[in-house]
Amino acid sequence: MSPSDDEPMSEPTVVIRPRRAQPFFNQHPWVFAGAIATIEGQPEPGDEVVVQSKDGQFIGRGLFNPNSNIRVRLYSWDKSVGLTNEFWDARITDAIALRAQLPGRSSHTACRLVASEADGLSGLTVDQYGDWLLVQLTSLALGTRREELFDLLQKHLTPRGIILRTEKGIRELEGLEQRDGLVRGEEPPRPLEIRENGLTFLVDVCTGQKTGCYLDQRDNRAAVARYARGHRLLDAFSYSGAFGITAAKLGEAASVVCVDSSEPALELARSNAEVNGVADRIECVQSDVFRFLKDAATRGDEYDTVVLDPPKMARRQAGLAKALRGYHSLNQLAVSVVRPGGLLVTCSCSGHVSREDFEQMLSGVATSSGRTIRILESRSQAADHPVSPNCPENRYLKCLICRVS
Ligand code: SAH
Repeated sequence: MSPSDDEPMSEPTVVIRPRRAQPFFNQHPWVFAGAIATIEGQPEPGDEVVVQSKDGQFIGRGLFNPNSNIRVRLYSWDKSVGLTNEFWDARITDAIALRAQLPGRSSHTACRLVASEADGLSGLTVDQYGDWLLVQLTSLALGTRREELFDLLQKHLTPRGIILRTEKGIRELEGLEQRDGLVRGEEPPRPLEIRENGLTFLVDVCTGQKTGCYLDQRDNRAAVARYARGHRLLDAFSYSGAFGITAAKLGEAASVVCVDSSEPALELARSNAEVNGVADRIECVQSDVFRFLKDAATRGDEYDTVVLDPPKMARRQAGLAKALRGYHSLNQLAVSVVRPGGLLVTCSCSGHVSREDFEQMLSGVATSSGRTIRILESRSQAADHPVSPNCPENRYLKCLICRVS
């Protein structure tokens, strides 16, 4: 007799295929279409569903989206705890408490307040930029609860404004229909001023990349600055110059060249150099990084430190081999302009590229360039971007500080 015989299922229920349930018992929150045996009842997009194993054991409660490859996102593993307003309130309260506990809070005014799966809120990202909040909804199910979520954020944080931003591609992946822009309060100044590691940065939360600033690299910028005294530093893929300007200001680097293909990003970098009083040591060059490095190598230019922080190269697992080839040629070019005994700071924000893959790529670069590479620090994302061991996919950032001799 299956348990469903003596306990009629009133709630829509998603039944997992045999031998596919273990990750969900271990609180992995993404139930992909391929793991589902049957769906009982007729859940609408965004509805709460119970997820159970084929033999009838309760696994968790989640939100259903028939339009996404992630059919159910799980949030509660307690049968008696439903996905009510109180539930979301408790999750947001906990996310805020975690950030309040982090060291160094007084030296920055921008941080990731809610980091999706890591805070038990798959599909919700909230970044705080001073008095403004920038919300990204990456799941339809939470998208349908957005007003409720905005109200909770307003209640806990009393921001001057809340802005909604939707990442490219998510509308299509999730079938989300939402309009970006101001959803609560007043428009932020443009650009908005934040503090990070004691420096001032200007960010444009409305049109800037990502959510305006790459907060995940905060600690890595300070770490690189510690090595930078007197250095000629190349900040490749600089965006608004945060690595280079931190190295110049905190680390007393002698000179910094910021290279990015985006002119608006470099305009922000120039302003950031200005407000931090290091404009005389920062040069901004609009160029493709690959081309810039090739030309620099041909000229025989050398830097004491090269920072490489390229955009995501592997968007899906199938692109892994190609991404690793891309990282290889980029890093190979970079080491060719690092002086013997200088530093290479090489980053990857592709979640599909593991730390092992990335280190192996560097090993290949050492061999093919005839240089000795040693990893001094193997770093990741700042603590306001925590990682749940149940969802290791969220540990995406790698930042290796290496000596190249
Ligand atoms: N290092 C930055 C974040 C870099 S994000 C920080 O700490 O804030 C990646 C940057 O690479 C973006 O600004 C994007 O404009 C730039 N970019 C992407 N492809 C590029 C290319 N081929 N050459 C130069 N810049 C590129």
